[in-house]
Amino acid sequence: MGRDNFAKRLRNVMDDRGIRQTDLIRAAQKRGARLGKSQLSQYVNGRTLPRQDSLELLASLLGVHADWLAWGKLPEAPQALPMSSNQYAERPSTPNAARRMPSNASGAVHPGQDVPSTDAVPVSTATQTSEPTSADTFDSASKLTASTAHAEKHVATQQVPTSERTPVMRHFKKSSKLNNVLYDVRGPVVDEAARMESEGMRILKLNIGNPAPFGFRAPDEVVHDMRQQLPDGEGYSDSRGLFSARKAIMQYCQIRNLPNVTMEDIYTGNGVSELINLCMQAILDNGDEILIPSPDYPLWTACATLAGGTPVHYICDEQAEWNPDLDDIRSKISPRTKAIVLINPNNPTGALYPREVLAEIVEIAREHQLMILSDEIYDRLIMDGFEHTSIASMAPDLFCITFSGLSKSHMIAGYRIGWMVLSGNKRCAKDLIEGIHMLANMRLCSNVPAQAIVQTALGGYQSVQRYIVPGGRVHDQRDLVYEALNQIPGISAVKPKAAFYIFPKIDVKRFNITDDEQFALDLLHEKHILIVPGKGFNWHKPDHFRVVYLPRRRVLTECMEDLADFMETYRQA
Ligand code: PLP
Repeated sequence: MGRDNFAKRLRNVMDDRGIRQTDLIRAAQKRGARLGKSQLSQYVNGRTLPRQDSLELLASLLGVHADWLAWGKLPEAPQALPMSSNQYAERPSTPNAARRMPSNASGAVHPGQDVPSTDAVPVSTATQTSEPTSADTFDSASKLTASTAHAEKHVATQQVPTSERTPVMRHFKKSSKLNNVLYDVRGPVVDEAARMESEGMRILKLNIGNPAPFGFRAPDEVVHDMRQQLPDGEGYSDSRGLFSARKAIMQYCQIRNLPNVTMEDIYTGNGVSELINLCMQAILDNGDEILIPSPDYPLWTACATLAGGTPVHYICDEQAEWNPDLDDIRSKISPRTKAIVLINPNNPTGALYPREVLAEIVEIAREHQLMILSDEIYDRLIMDGFEHTSIASMAPDLFCITFSGLSKSHMIAGYRIGWMVLSGNKRCAKDLIEGIHMLANMRLCSNVPAQAIVQTALGGYQSVQRYIVPGGRVHDQRDLVYEALNQIPGISAVKPKAAFYIFPKIDVKRFNITDDEQFALDLLHEKHILIVPGKGFNWHKPDHFRVVYLPRRRVLTECMEDLADFMETYRQA
């Protein structure tokens, strides 16, 4: 579908029906669907094309055929198909009749109300069975009558023989379980970047913590050992993982003082990602609440939601070096709260929590009998001489699950290897552990060749060290970005202590910013720089964005200059 033509059709239907963008957004909300202000304005202005699900949502809210909206024409009718099945909708004998589809047909048009005249706008019949009824669809009734006369003018050109029937294509929709799931690290702004790339533009991607494309190489020994062991990794392993991998992880836990960990308490996964999802499925019943930081690594919120749980976000306080706000945590605990999630070191802020803060969180968890889930995938990427403490080491009497992996510390995000460790009081979680084990069995095992290198990776010299000391790439890139951001009028940032992310604040008043996704899109269009807006990390205000500082200094310098240049004149409309 062409952007301009699509936008033209969209604007025509909206104009003809007197539908404003806000009406559409509200109608989508009423349905529980997500249609962002900036997203819609991108479509209307021909800057972005919608994905299939958004296209279908728009079509259905407007009561037109998705195919028509996308392509300006209806799907071809296969000739040999039977006509009697209720899967096939009769094309009305006159367009006028088509414009009087009953409200329960498309959900967008009410009985007796004419659909206005936008050039041969085909009323959607494709949604007869699966679309919501008029109650939760855009109510265009009041807007339609005025254009009836205009509509009459168009009918002569739209005669369709009575005998012609159009099969209505069955559309497969995503499950409603995904309705409230958000994962914008690879969301609409990234889709737009992909579209721009497909048109030949070069985009600087500061949106994802993937070290390899920025020249970070896996240690030679790791690659060598994986190659050596490849022939032994052909079969499934134990569902928890290879003995050698788990032994190495157990020893790692001993060094980090995790209490009460046996070989049975260690599960390898296809990255920490798989294990976050697995745990959320095992832990949460519908309506169970789980405390998750804001900002967060959004997979936690997404998986908790998908599992039927209710993520309750506690604030991390920028004024306090992005440490969790303990009073906010306390205020958000209810009888349904089951667990608290920590991301330490933190993505997206780069914070590292001190022992005193961890001790307070343990105290809160103790008082309210919460389990602690700690995502520590960046625990080997700490700078400036700080030390990481694993919260589980401070909570031998509580049930804790600690997550880590090799994606970041060994720059092998693509190999997919992570693990989780159950520790502390396992008696209180006997039944839950059975559930976790069942889910681990159901996915058979994690990637075996990647498990085979855990022992190599965790033992001996840790090559990541050279990146995080002065003169090292991660360290020096962090310094460069931190200083450059703080020199831009209207931008400020807390210095990250770990990982490779920074989460700068924007003075929204100065730039009149009300929509951070729009800000990200504008920066992308103007400077070809891809960042993730704060809302992608479940941050509640439009005043932050995340920068991944993995590119080399030369590239980052140029990028920061571009950003400064952009901010000089940027004002959101
Ligand atoms: N947890 C955090 C905090 C992350 O930032 C990431 C990836 O960026 C993950 C987990 C996922 O890691 P993995 O590659 O092990 O799935």
